[in-house]
Amino acid sequence: MKTRVVMVDAERPDPQAIAEAAAVIRAGGLVAFPTETVYGLGAHALDAAAVGRLFEVKERPATDPLIVHLAHIGQLGQVAAEVPPAARALALAFWAGPLTLVLPKKPVVPDVVTAGRPTVAVRVPSHRVARALMETCGAPVAAPSANRFSRPSSTRAGHVLSELDGRIDLVLDGGLTPIGVESTIVDCTVSPPVLLRPGGVTREALLAHIPDLVVGGRMARADSPQRAPGQLARHYAPAARMTLFEGAPAAVQARLATEARTLVAQGHRVGILAPAEDVLALAPELAAHAASGRVRLQAYGRRATPGTAAAALFDALRALDEEGPDVMLAAGIGAEGLGAAVRDRLLRAAEGRIVNV
Ligand code: AMP
Ligand code: MG
Repeated sequence: MKTRVVMVDAERPDPQAIAEAAAVIRAGGLVAFPTETVYGLGAHALDAAAVGRLFEVKERPATDPLIVHLAHIGQLGQVAAEVPPAARALALAFWAGPLTLVLPKKPVVPDVVTAGRPTVAVRVPSHRVARALMETCGAPVAAPSANRFSRPSSTRAGHVLSELDGRIDLVLDGGLTPIGVESTIVDCTVSPPVLLRPGGVTREALLAHIPDLVVGGRMARADSPQRAPGQLARHYAPAARMTLFEGAPAAVQARLATEARTLVAQGHRVGILAPAEDVLALAPELAAHAASGRVRLQAYGRRATPGTAAAALFDALRALDEEGPDVMLAAGIGAEGLGAAVRDRLLRAAEGRIVNV
């Protein structure tokens, strides 16, 4: 299959391009499109065959359910059997935006979308291209991140093509996605609601609306002190084996320099993914290894502004991966605000290998 790429303005998408993409989805095809979080790969959510193809091209296991995207809150009744008061409050506060709510599903939602669960995950994206697409489609759109399973999510059309070219019908190229990490997921089928995945809406912001919000799901597991390396499922993963280093910035920088030298001495090619201030501090120390190509330094945002780290994370991870290191060392940025989502992605990219410096 030939994958068409159509450029769209992220602020004022061309109605012609949107109409073409909507027609592809209505006909059962697959369209990658930008959202405010990452690129999504969309299929008609009520078309089980189209959703089945979506799983195939992503090589995604059938046990991993999809998020259903809507044009506006008024469409909720099409897919959700019930909207508890807490869910309504969150939807009113954060939609359109990077928040996904898990709700009891209507029978019309095919089992393939929800991996056989009685619940459906829904969100209303705020990106103009995504909203225009959903509106023109007139149908709910199931859209996981536009990448092959277990790989980093895509924040540029080029990332989508590097993994899905020839497998999908169309890519709407709307440039960089602004937030850069996926949506926050809250399970609203239980009371109080449970935070399942950190993402574009911070826990701090959710707590202002739901003070008794429970931190659960993968967040609880990821923070558990019993967690052993290798226990977390491989996700967002680069080809190289990654370890995450956390602690005071100066200590992390010193440790990364030592680790890098040791690994180079053992014959490894080392990639370092770190906030810009760490890269600046390490560049002179590792200059000789960088010049010989044994060490690559890749910055992703700054500690003081977790939003910059979130926005740069997947692009930086992919760029470093393409340099072909066989070992990656990553420096964390803490867990304040959007830092929690960044930490969750890094921890999974590292399959739980974490070192407290
Ligand atoms: P992705 O779109 O690739 O970011 O992945 C969507 C994620 O949403 C899945 O991996 C699940 O963790 C979550 N999800 C989707 N549907 C449900 C559901 N019904 N219940 C709980 N989690 C869900
Ligand atoms: Mg994904």
